[in-house]
Amino acid sequence: MPPFDVPEGDPFGPHNLPYGVFSPAGSTERRVGVRLGDHVLDAGAAARAIGSPYTSLLAHPTLNPLLAAGRTAWSDVRRALTAWVTVPAHRETIERLFYPLSSVTLHLPFEVADYVDFYSSEHHARNAGHIFRPDAENPLTPNWKHLPIGYHGRSGTVVVSGTDVVRPSGQRKGPADPAPVFGPSVRLDIEAEVGFVVGVPSKRGRPVALGDFREHVFGLCLLNDWSARDIQAWEYVPLGPFLGKSFATSVSAWITPLEALEDARVAPPERTHPPLPYLDDSDEEPCGYDLRISIAVNGHTVSEPPFHTMYWTAAQQLAHMTVNGASLRTGDLYGSGTVSGPEERQRGSLLELTWNGRDPLELPDGKRTYLEDGDVVTLSAWAPGADGARVGLGEVSGRVVASSRRTD
Ligand code: MN
Repeated sequence: MPPFDVPEGDPFGPHNLPYGVFSPAGSTERRVGVRLGDHVLDAGAAARAIGSPYTSLLAHPTLNPLLAAGRTAWSDVRRALTAWVTVPAHRETIERLFYPLSSVTLHLPFEVADYVDFYSSEHHARNAGHIFRPDAENPLTPNWKHLPIGYHGRSGTVVVSGTDVVRPSGQRKGPADPAPVFGPSVRLDIEAEVGFVVGVPSKRGRPVALGDFREHVFGLCLLNDWSARDIQAWEYVPLGPFLGKSFATSVSAWITPLEALEDARVAPPERTHPPLPYLDDSDEEPCGYDLRISIAVNGHTVSEPPFHTMYWTAAQQLAHMTVNGASLRTGDLYGSGTVSGPEERQRGSLLELTWNGRDPLELPDGKRTYLEDGDVVTLSAWAPGADGARVGLGEVSGRVVASSRRTD
């Protein structure tokens, strides 16, 4: 199928146009690409061929210059790209600059600056509370309804979809163990999340207000926050996640601009506790997103978490992480937190899906509590677009590879 003639209903039609970075077959050169159907447009080469003023934003090995350019430029470039791939007069110039998706190598699309991960699904937080603190009166910690809880992660180990994930080693100590032991994690898990990509930086000392979310955030991706539950359980008191998370975080190769998701914006769930003024979004435009996520293990769908159920929105997370004066940099990435809905088959982690191993999942290739070596986990998603269209968010996939270390 020639790229211009994307079939009706394709989730990667001209209404979507997500951005990535690719190398054509046989080349190591990295180029900004825009996905259309099952093809990738060399966006920098297209801009040059057309004589577009946006060549300076697109002819780069990363998305960072485009991210930094700001909301007006994001809109202008998107409008130009839409014309290039739909107006027949451009067809002859543009058509030879498409590559079949199956022929290219996709790379991490931007240089990740700081990485933060949140914990903003009430269903996930309640499930985790019930599992880890079964005797507690309230599964939510006292702060949960007052601020979006988060932690700073490790940006240097954010990897693109398709990158293998080596089973991490570390310390663990079960409640009955007399002393900690060292070895490969035996409770390797996933967390199905959405990642938000910051484009425009902010100045240190100047918090970003809720209403400025879309001035700073360029788009979103799918994110798998791989988690070694045994390492995490032993190390996290009192400072939070560390080595149980920092070995790898996978992101999808395609960044969907927020502009492509206007029809997916929804109001977040009703707030049961009025937030403090800097988090109070009752007078703001709705900033929840209706994203339908699927989790597959070795090609078998195990869960379908609904993103619209997230209690704290990405705008509130951004306002919270800057309210102390912390500044944003181009390429900052923040994860939503594990997305879990109210139903059992809407849970975003194996921790919850198997209730910490108590209720194994039945897969066609056997039972699973946590991940086994060789397992491939794939998160995919789509969002409603205009007139019944779907906006595809691509996928983030990773295979678990055996640790080369022996138990010590
Ligand atoms: Mn997480």
